[in-house]
Amino acid sequence: MRCQACQYELVQLSEHRCPECGRPFDPADAETFLQPEPRSVFERVIVIGALLVVGPLVLLALLFVIAVLSQLWQLLKLICADLCHLWLLVLFS
Ligand SMILES: [Zn+2]
Repeated sequence: MRCQACQYELVQLSEHRCPECGRPFDPADAETFLQPEPRSVFERVIVIGALLVVGPLVLLALLFVIAVLSQLWQLLKLICADLCHLWLLVLFS
């Protein structure tokens, strides 16, 4: 909700008065403040379209990171195994 006079965002305030312009408001009375306007159909289409594009991209990026980390883990295991093998050879030769 916003102030009717200056459009200041009236959230998390300790008193029912706009800190910007001093206009009083009653949270229980919708006539004393501005309510957020519902999104238009166009805005909804834009938001849904963006989610449909961004969602799969984020998922692909996550799968890519998991694949890379998995490969790094395999490489690390191979290096550790080789180092252990070398250490055993040095120790018992
Ligand atoms: Zn105000």
